[in-house]
Amino acid sequence: MAELAGRIALVTGGGRGIGRAVALALASEGADVAVAARSADELEETVSAVRAAGRRGEAIVCDVTHRPNVDAMVARVRTALGDPLILVNNAGVAASAKLTDTTDEMWDGMLRVNATGAFYCTRAVLPAMLQAKWGRVINVASIAAKMGAPYIAAYAASKHALLGLTRAVAAEVAARGITVNAVCPGYVDTEMTDASTANIASRTGRSEQDARKILEGFSPQGRLMTAAEVATLTAFLCSDAARGVNGQGLVLDGGAVQS
Ligand code: NDP
Repeated sequence: MAELAGRIALVTGGGRGIGRAVALALASEGADVAVAARSADELEETVSAVRAAGRRGEAIVCDVTHRPNVDAMVARVRTALGDPLILVNNAGVAASAKLTDTTDEMWDGMLRVNATGAFYCTRAVLPAMLQAKWGRVINVASIAAKMGAPYIAAYAASKHALLGLTRAVAAEVAARGITVNAVCPGYVDTEMTDASTANIASRTGRSEQDARKILEGFSPQGRLMTAAEVATLTAFLCSDAARGVNGQGLVLDGGAVQS
């Protein structure tokens, strides 16, 4: 039997990139999957792929920074599919700037989506996990949850906050059949990284190809990670084999960050 048969998963930011890959990986392990984000058309494409894999899927338009939206999203998953006992907090935004050029809006925007959104979602699903005595929360953080780098103060602060949330909730629910972990990828080949490449190119006058090489060079493997790799690790953390892994921030970057 498929590892996650009978499980219901909620993946935020599931319309594209890493979130879509995670939704499909969980569906291929047997889970029914709800995906949430702001762009309805992208969500529908993911749900079509989930259904094509033979699982039930639900697309829910939701801004994770808006608490009433989050509560309504969880209520809708419950009605459409059942209680989501797997939550993947993947919705995220990134922007880079020198600290002195980081606006209040950039700071607040990244903190609200990357950290507060995950808090809202986790708080909304945890009671059902506690009742079921089983749950998996996976937060898609970043290597920026473990280290700083120039021009990413707001992003790094938001991802450090997300890892802090991960560790604290993991400790709180450790005896209750629930695990809470973070995956911490280096640069992944998605639209978010395309935007970083374009930004480097426009700021430095380099070609996009050269800009991409810079990002590839952050990994000692000289490459971008793939969304499928992040999805495989996330699916593993949902499995029973991973039940002892709790409160961790698992780095997936080819070996640059070793903590
Ligand atoms: P994408 O930009 O491709 O996808 C981001 C997803 O998040 C989209 O579905 C987007 O949908 C959704 N999202 C953004 N803001 C909100 C919001 N307020 N409410 C609900 N959904 C939202 O990025 P990636 O797939 O690359 O990134 C996914 C996660 O992985 C992020 O948390 C990111 O920080 C993290 N990560 C990415 C890395 C990379 O190199 N790409 C490296 C390390 C971590 P919509 O805009 O329609 O709302």
